[in-house]
Amino acid sequence: MTMSRFAQRLSDHGLELTRGVTTTLQVNVGLACDLTCRHCHLGAGPWQTELMTSAVIEDVIACAARIPFACIDITGGAPELLPELPYLLSGLAERAPKLIVRSNLTALSLPGSAALPELYRDLKVSVVASLPAVNASQTESQRGSGAWDTAIRTLQKLNVLGYGLAGSGLELDLVSNPVGAFLPPGQAATEKRFRQELARRHDISFNRLFTFANVPLGRYLEWLESSGNLSVYREKLESCFNPSTLPGLMCRSLISVNWLGIIHDCDFNLAAGLQHGRAPLNISELHEVPSEGTPIPVGDHCFACTAGSGFT
Ligand code: SF4
Repeated sequence: MTMSRFAQRLSDHGLELTRGVTTTLQVNVGLACDLTCRHCHLGAGPWQTELMTSAVIEDVIACAARIPFACIDITGGAPELLPELPYLLSGLAERAPKLIVRSNLTALSLPGSAALPELYRDLKVSVVASLPAVNASQTESQRGSGAWDTAIRTLQKLNVLGYGLAGSGLELDLVSNPVGAFLPPGQAATEKRFRQELARRHDISFNRLFTFANVPLGRYLEWLESSGNLSVYREKLESCFNPSTLPGLMCRSLISVNWLGIIHDCDFNLAAGLQHGRAPLNISELHEVPSEGTPIPVGDHCFACTAGSGFT
C-alpha cells in the first residue's frame, strides 16, 4: 500500500501518531442534515437517510455505562434530526461528566426541535454551535439563504435559557471556519471580533470560540475540485505542517462511533473510511478504551489538523 504524503511527512520528522489517554467518545448519529454547507467534510444533507438506529443507540448507552468517558460528544449531520435524540441524551447524561451536542443552529429551530433547548438546559448539555462567519453574507454563502437570521435567533434563545452567560454553568461555544480555500485567521483575534459584533449587534453572549481549518473531504473536497482550488489548498496545508500540534490532536484522546456502530479514530477518519484497528470494531464489542500507544491510521486529510496552530 502506498504511504500517504502525511504518513511520509511524519516519517521524515521521525514521528508517528499514536493514542494518548482516551477520554472522549464522539457519537456521529448520521448524515441527515437540514443544510448543505459547502465546507461539510461528510457531505451531509436533507436527502441523506443515514441515521443511528434504536439498536445502535442502545449499544452506545450501554458502552457509556461500562466505560467511564470524561466527555461524550454528539455530532452528525444535524443531531437534532435524530428522532431518538432526547432518549439518547437522557441515557448518556448521567454517564459522563460532560455531554456535548454539536449544532448548526438552524436545525435547533426546526418545529421538531421545539423542546430540545429546554431539554439541553435541564440535562446541562454543553452546546457547540457552528457559525462560519460573523455576518450574514459570508454565512449564507456557505449555508444558504436564511441561515444567518435563524442562527441569530437560536443563539438569542439559548442565551435566554442561560447558555453562554457567566455563572449559569451552561456552556455555549462557537466554531468558525473559513468560507473559502484558505486557513483560518488567529483564534484569539477571531473570538474577540465575534464577541464584540454579536454583543453589539444582536446582544448575544457565548463562552469560547474555536477556529478550524476546513478538511478536504466530502462536499468541501468536491467544491475544491470544482472551483480549481484543490492543489493550492493542499499545498497551503502541507506547507503549514506544524509537528508541535501532534501531542494535542483530538484523535489521541477521542474515539468516534458512526451511525452503524463502527469505531473510528476521529470524525475525519470516519468520513475518509479509515477504520480504527485492523478489522471493523463495533461499539457493542468495545469493553475498554484503546491502549496508549495504539497507532492511529492517517491520511492526507490529516494535514488540515496539523497546519499552523492545529485542530485539537
Ligand atoms: S484527521 Fe486529524 S484528528 Fe483525525 S487522525 Fe488525522 S490528525 Fe488525527
